Amino acid sequence: MKTQRLIPLIAWLAASVALLPVIARAQYINIRVSAKFILSPTGVRPTGVWTNMDHWRTAIDIANAGNARHGRGFRYLYPTFDGDVSGYGQYYNLEDGEELPFEYSIRTNTAQSHWRADALNVYVVNNNLGTVAQPACAGWASNPEDVLSSSAPYNTMRGRIVVFCVNMQPTAGPFGIMAHEFGHHQSLIHTWANDRVADTRVDADPTVCEQPGVPDPCACKFNQTIALGQSQGWTAAEFRLMTNNIMSYHCDVDSDFELTEGQLDRWADMTRMFLSTECTGRTLFVQFGSTAPAPDGYSLNHVPGGGPFPTVFAGVVAASGAGGDIVVLRPGSYNEQFSITKPVTLRATRSGWATIGK
Ligand SMILES: [Zn+2]
Repeated sequence: MKTQRLIPLIAWLAASVALLPVIARAQYINIRVSAKFILSPTGVRPTGVWTNMDHWRTAIDIANAGNARHGRGFRYLYPTFDGDVSGYGQYYNLEDGEELPFEYSIRTNTAQSHWRADALNVYVVNNNLGTVAQPACAGWASNPEDVLSSSAPYNTMRGRIVVFCVNMQPTAGPFGIMAHEFGHHQSLIHTWANDRVADTRVDADPTVCEQPGVPDPCACKFNQTIALGQSQGWTAAEFRLMTNNIMSYHCDVDSDFELTEGQLDRWADMTRMFLSTECTGRTLFVQFGSTAPAPDGYSLNHVPGGGPFPTVFAGVVAASGAGGDIVVLRPGSYNEQFSITKPVTLRATRSGWATIGK
């Protein structure tokens, strides 16, 4: 768990950059998780998988194994259980269409709902209105970039909560649901929608395979993707990224779920922009040759003129002197020489080598 995962570029750093001793906690951006239970009208907790701490640990371990593979330094902490929520019995069985009023009520009654600004808030509800084969609820999460809805009063609030439903069956991916819903929380969008990421394909709509009467929804979804991909000339890597993508509905195994570099960039940007209080650091992007006129360290120009820093030096300067930030170096040979005098972690991406040195 504590293994240093600082990519090969560290060898190049030694050649020309004087490094401070590494502070272990700065290698990760930890995301705090706070869990709450919605009580029934008679004051009873929902019972099922999300009332089992071992289940939480396994799910978080799987999500973090994915985070480690993806190499951006994010890590979910095991949850704190911050209380039972009374007075929300009407949402004990959360039904379609109730998500927005539920979140709005949670967020406007923070004392009663134990909502925390400094953590990812998970609310566990009952809702097992479907059948074993077609569960009505797995989980839900709102998007931190978007207001809950364009209509009042929901247009005053961007998304910030995650909902888990108990009693999910193994066929529904009881652990991967966490990585998927937390992915939404970090701003990721389903692969068959416009996901606001440049390097992902648009998948076939999988929901048509989840209707009664479809004998094998997993095969149905896979076959739809194969047909679409073949018609569009997807590469083998694109197929793999789609059928293993945690933001798809494909029946992937939890141990090898994937995200594209673009999805990871979006995660980092939106987390920094909207969820900074929930975690221990920021991601700052450096891109060799970046011509952003007013570089702010986001992966692209979310604001006019913004974008990656052009030099490692500029990224390090922008990093917090208190530690915790991660500077992500996009591929290139950075011809720089300087001293790092603060605790900061440099990471390369899976896209290629980042070399520093004169
Ligand atoms: Zn989803």
